[in-house]
Amino acid sequence: MKEVYVAKTASRGIAAAGVLKYQEPDYTPQSGDVTDEQIETEKEKFEKAREAVKAVLADWVSQNEIFAAHLEILDDFTLQDGIYSKIEGEHKNVQAALHDTIEELAAVFAMTDDDYMCERAADIRDVGKRLMAELKGISLPDLGSLSKEAIVVARDLYPSDTVKINPDFVKGIITEEGGVTSHVSIIAKSMNIPTLVGVGPLLEGLNEDAVICMDAERGMIIIDPDEATLADYQMRKESYEKERLRLQSLRNTPAVTKDGKRISLCANVGNLEDIQKALEMNIDGIGLFRSEFLYMENTHFPTEEEQFQVYSKAAALCPGELTIRTLDIGGDKELSYFEFDKEENPFLGWRAIRISLDMKDMFKQQLRAILRASNFGHVRIMFPMIISIEEFRAAREAVEECKAELKAEGKAYDEGIELGMMIETPASVLLAQEFAREADFFSIGTNDLTQYLLAIDRGNKKLADKYDYLHPAVLRAISQVIEAGHREGIKVGMCGEMAGDYRAVKMLLEMGLDEFSMSAGNIDYVREQICG
Ligand code: PEP
Ligand code: MG
Repeated sequence: MKEVYVAKTASRGIAAAGVLKYQEPDYTPQSGDVTDEQIETEKEKFEKAREAVKAVLADWVSQNEIFAAHLEILDDFTLQDGIYSKIEGEHKNVQAALHDTIEELAAVFAMTDDDYMCERAADIRDVGKRLMAELKGISLPDLGSLSKEAIVVARDLYPSDTVKINPDFVKGIITEEGGVTSHVSIIAKSMNIPTLVGVGPLLEGLNEDAVICMDAERGMIIIDPDEATLADYQMRKESYEKERLRLQSLRNTPAVTKDGKRISLCANVGNLEDIQKALEMNIDGIGLFRSEFLYMENTHFPTEEEQFQVYSKAAALCPGELTIRTLDIGGDKELSYFEFDKEENPFLGWRAIRISLDMKDMFKQQLRAILRASNFGHVRIMFPMIISIEEFRAAREAVEECKAELKAEGKAYDEGIELGMMIETPASVLLAQEFAREADFFSIGTNDLTQYLLAIDRGNKKLADKYDYLHPAVLRAISQVIEAGHREGIKVGMCGEMAGDYRAVKMLLEMGLDEFSMSAGNIDYVREQICG
């Protein structure tokens, strides 16, 4: 019996079964350059592979919308451009050109410490992998053909690997790499398959006939358990299932505390797909729409019209308030189509509202799109990384300008739209009382607030154990902000990771927090804490 402790639970649950080692084919590109005469043939090979992959993905779109995004990647001219220029300009063969282009495109996303962005890199690589398999004429392993119960252990799984998973046989998933926001995590969660990701080296030395017990509650794996442990896991698995169904049955209960306070229970989202998923949790609204994803997944600054299409659909879908945060780019989040100057300290640099206020035209396009969307639901605007009253006023001024323009153009919007701000800098904590006189609401961003208060980079793995939103300094800051907001009569919410941590709920309620906004997967657990 061997115990391995792991950190990241992507989908909760308990499982015990034999192992299935998921072996990846060799995707190494063929070596060697091509001659001038071979250039056209290489380009044709790419086109043929692209058509073949498109046909497969088009079939899968009905099963999962992720594949619509994959089809867009395939059709994106940057992919074709990259490959063609490497074949024509550098005389690379099509496989090498594909490999290098995919890595270049994925690198833009993979550079951030944001799990969500890293997973966009995974989408690009997934498409690359399909194309490469087609070019090399290799068939990909098929999890759909599994005929007995197993826990799948893989280096990493991509959306296309998971499409045919049958939850009757796949009892658990463990990946050596990958993050909690990966599509495999999302798919596994939607199928209630316990999943642990980013566990580190495990495959090597794992016997094909090994048995695994996994606890994706506490983040634990046991390889070849003894009989007593196995029996214990079987029992826990059953009680976990019961508990899950019990929590699900609470979904229709409104989030009201024992002393009668109605709490707003909201979701954090990055796109329309996330909103659809969150709706299943019976949410009160969206506490954080991270609009930067719309910018990062594009090949150009999205136009007012393109943004309006997304925001207005989001507003119509959202059952209550839809809080759209204006562009929060910079720091570790880059755009493939915009050159940022290299900075010594990007997290202390040109990011978020600082960029928006400097690039006023771009900012106003976003504000106009949000304002127009406010005609389709209850939309609020939230500004990120505010540190001074002047900044907040300048942002508000830009909103006023956009309102005047829209009025003159006869376009509808919500005149009384609320303007709020993230509290995620020490300056905004210290000036909370003053800000509360200007802003209509606060949302505490504990991810950045913890980083800036403790002077610990939120993505630094070496310091991960010291990066702690339960640090007394962070707790005191949160309490002060809530008090300051309430003194001035505004609502205070939280949309950092802490809001989704069920262990912190009672403490935050005691401090008076009005709104909890989190990734959808945590909502059942937080609701129970609020009501219990
Ligand atoms: C935060 O900083 O807590 C937050 C919610 O914003 P982001 O994680 O997008 O920086
Ligand atoms: Mg932040």
